[in-house]
Amino acid sequence: QAKEKGRGRYEIFNQKMHAQALKLLTLETDLRHGIDKEEFKVYYQPIMQLNPIELVGFEALIRWQHPYKGFISPGEFIPVAENTGLIIPLGTIVLEKVCHQIKIWNKKYPHATSLKVAVNFSSKQFNDVNLVKNIDEVLEKMNLNSNNLKIEITETSLIEHSLKTIKLVKELKKRNLEICLDDFGTGYSSLSYLHRFPVDILKIDRSFINSIGQPEENLEIIQSIITLAHNLGMKVVAEGIETEEQLIYLQQLNCDFGQGYFFNRPLPPAEVEKLLETN
Ligand code: C2E
Ligand code: MG
Ligand code: MG
Ligand code: MG
Repeated sequence: QAKEKGRGRYEIFNQKMHAQALKLLTLETDLRHGIDKEEFKVYYQPIMQLNPIELVGFEALIRWQHPYKGFISPGEFIPVAENTGLIIPLGTIVLEKVCHQIKIWNKKYPHATSLKVAVNFSSKQFNDVNLVKNIDEVLEKMNLNSNNLKIEITETSLIEHSLKTIKLVKELKKRNLEICLDDFGTGYSSLSYLHRFPVDILKIDRSFINSIGQPEENLEIIQSIITLAHNLGMKVVAEGIETEEQLIYLQQLNCDFGQGYFFNRPLPPAEVEKLLETN
């Protein structure tokens, strides 16, 4: 009896695993096609200075409109890209698109040339020995200096490969690229550890901002992150501001910058241009 039941469970488990494996494999194949067929776009989410409120730049976020499966979120395909090495060509695609876009906007909106675009890099890209060389090549090919670019890396990737990553980050800093530590607070790094990393900007993870005004709010944590970052000479961005209450609170805490649906969702380039025309 029990054995029968056990086997039944085993088979269900097996089927589930099979379905999951198949799904990942299909996603990988689709990603390869998508890269060949240029199905990827970059959207731009405005980043605002909080006091007074002013547009200071954007975060570049990859978008994939699959020809018949529709929109697939980066949360779903970035991990697959990371595990298959496809993140390397994808990373180049994003960087090239962003540089190209910056060139267009610098020309079209000379009043907006101080705006910066932050590009996400996954830890797997830091394993690529050619990373810095590739960045140099893209910048050179596009005839763009690094003033308009920032690099976002997650707290976890910094901890995972700390020595190697610190070396790389230092290389990037030599090129005047500002470094943002993304999703800060989720990686369990001790705050006192931070001074070792040549980081310019901390991005407080959305989960903390989300909690403002909720019963389980993390006000003290947010407060300490901001104070510590400022003491270390870093600026702070709050991710995922959705309400006015959250904004007001962050302004009171002297948080430097913020992004979130309260201001704007990630926008296609044409929508960004409407913003730049009125700013
Ligand atoms: P992330 O770098 O932390 O990006 C912020 C995410 O929060 C984005 O999700 C953005 O759309 C979302 N967001 C912004 N404001 C709000 C808000 O007010 N409320 C809520 N609920 N969400 C908000 P998205 O675009 O789905 O990207 C998810 C993650 O995928 C990114 O997290 C990043 O880790 C990764 N990613 C996106 N684009 C790239 C890329 O070009 N390269 C790499 N390596 N990773 C990327
Ligand atoms: Mg990011
Ligand atoms: Mg983030
Ligand atoms: Mg995040």
